[in-house]
Amino acid sequence: MTADTIAAISTPWGPGAIGILRLSGPEAARVAEKCFKPLGHKGFLEHKPRELVYGDLLDSGGEAIDRVLCAYSLGPNSYTGEDTAELQCHGSPMVLALGLEALFAAGARQAKAGEFTRRAFLNGRLDLAQAEAVGDLLEAQSREGARHAAGQLAGALSRKIGDIYSALVDVMAHFHAVLDYPDEDIDPFRLKELEKVLAHQEGELNALLASCGRGKLLREGVACAIVGRPNAGKSTLLNTLVGYDRAIVTDIPGTTRDTVEERCELGGVPLRLIDTAGLRDTADPVERLGVERSRKAMEEAELIFAVVDMSADLTAEDQEMLQAVSETGKPWVFVASKKDLAESSRSMGLIGGDTPSVEVSALTGEGLDKLGTLVAELFPREEAAPYGQLLTNARQEEAARRAGEAVHRALEALQAGVTPDALLTDVEEALAALGELTGQSVREDITDRIFSKFCVGK
Ligand code: GDP
Repeated sequence: MTADTIAAISTPWGPGAIGILRLSGPEAARVAEKCFKPLGHKGFLEHKPRELVYGDLLDSGGEAIDRVLCAYSLGPNSYTGEDTAELQCHGSPMVLALGLEALFAAGARQAKAGEFTRRAFLNGRLDLAQAEAVGDLLEAQSREGARHAAGQLAGALSRKIGDIYSALVDVMAHFHAVLDYPDEDIDPFRLKELEKVLAHQEGELNALLASCGRGKLLREGVACAIVGRPNAGKSTLLNTLVGYDRAIVTDIPGTTRDTVEERCELGGVPLRLIDTAGLRDTADPVERLGVERSRKAMEEAELIFAVVDMSADLTAEDQEMLQAVSETGKPWVFVASKKDLAESSRSMGLIGGDTPSVEVSALTGEGLDKLGTLVAELFPREEAAPYGQLLTNARQEEAARRAGEAVHRALEALQAGVTPDALLTDVEEALAALGELTGQSVREDITDRIFSKFCVGK
């Protein structure tokens, strides 16, 4: 248990409807009581825990600075597992600053980054994977990303890891019992069965590792280059997808000299849209630089929107661009733009049947749904896995990879007929790696399991 009481402003800076001051630690309720005066006749701590009480927030001089709602919770039934209190103020930066000052004067200290969640972890309210999910939830870039983070926070990954961990502990317990208590009456090695367990868990870990790609995609977004000759409508498309005027749109070819990067969600897939200067050979040195960037953006992209103005004739530049795009071998969508200006695309027929293609108008929004559907088809979600059952960061991936490798070695050792103690080292390593994933300890669990399950040494 940490001995001190921490306080922080928990809402983003700036004026808003509500601003929240939060406290955690043994003195949380008493610190709140000193800075908060209920309007009714009852004292703050005479109210029940978790009851929202209406009253005045007092500054460090005892002057009322806001009408607020305040509640306290008693550990361990709180987010951090400690006593906590929360003051819901008006979202005024000045009120919050004065309120925080008052909380400090009453005995709290400034919380460090992530300290509430850290305490929740240290007090066993969340495991490590869940604590990480809190961060992922805050930073989610897409609906799917948010759902996965929520699933992980609710324990989907932890349960999956727990199942693998538990199966491996059973294997260890069996071998330990045989090694440590050779005289006890324990089932003989069922080698085939143990081999099956290890192989199955290796498969489970590999499946989790395979989810990393999706996790990274959700976290970072798919890098999507929008390419096409000047004036094709690239910037307008980007602006429409993002929802506001980020890139400068003019009808003078070559306005977008630099690359512009914006995030949006399309077809449920988070995209990092990269608008590029027109892909064409030019003598203008500034534009030349832009063209280089276009090529670079295509190299770095994981998806390309090749934009061709369907209201104009297809030019040699368009064809060169389409050629360059298809040569990348990357997933791409042929986007015939400015549909509102043309009946049908003359260029559409030039595209092979396999290439996803769509006619859009960035002006009216027509065709954007279909563009979304095409993107969703190119980056399909793994329907079978429940939300949250995927690895979302490098730490998780690295730990799961180590666990998988260790299980693989154990399996090989078993198949090669190595002695149980050699195999145990590998399984133990796998457990340690899994334990790192969720932040749980290893040795105690194993010994607990041996004595509870096998009833040896009673
Ligand atoms: P970029 O050079 O490829 O980025 O092209 P812009 O997005 O700057 O667009 C060039 C011109 O085409 C601008 O005048 C846009 O307003 C216009 N434009 C872009 N998209 C559409 C569209 O869907 N419909 C119509 N009618 N005009 C468009």
